[in-house]
Amino acid sequence: MRTRPEKGGPGARPPLCGVVQTLPPTLVLDALTAAPFGDGEIDVMTDLRCELEADHRGHHADAVRLLDGSPPETLWTQWTDWRVPVKVLVLRDCARVGGEDPRGGDDACTLFADHPGTCSFDLFDPEHERFLAAHPAYRYLFAREGKPDEAGARCCL
Ligand SMILES: [Zn+2]
Ligand SMILES: [Zn+2]
Repeated sequence: MRTRPEKGGPGARPPLCGVVQTLPPTLVLDALTAAPFGDGEIDVMTDLRCELEADHRGHHADAVRLLDGSPPETLWTQWTDWRVPVKVLVLRDCARVGGEDPRGGDDACTLFADHPGTCSFDLFDPEHERFLAAHPAYRYLFAREGKPDEAGARCCL
């Protein structure tokens, strides 16, 4: 075993897990009350999609609310296969930053500190790649804007 198995991502980056789940209404309320409101718009994400590297250990995880506070933290929920999430939790953001952002910008990991697997900036999203394969015109758009807009890609599927 000399080389990692090729999973087919651009630059052979590992794919993200991508298991989908829905945030139950009771947890939307928990998410709204879990942390004080900043100046920003309150936005609770209910369409969950695990952001960890595929085949990770432990729970699936997705961010449900971005927080304004310092130190940088994000509200997450976690779940296991076939079960709905039962709680939300505030986790410190992962401090690692990718060094290969072609725009030279700040390509910070969007996961939580001590997350399993690879940082978000080194993962590739198979669903996003499938979307681009089916809608080649968007590849140009994303390339122009620099960073794939995941929410935008999802809304157009
Ligand atoms: Zn997962
Ligand atoms: Zn990270």
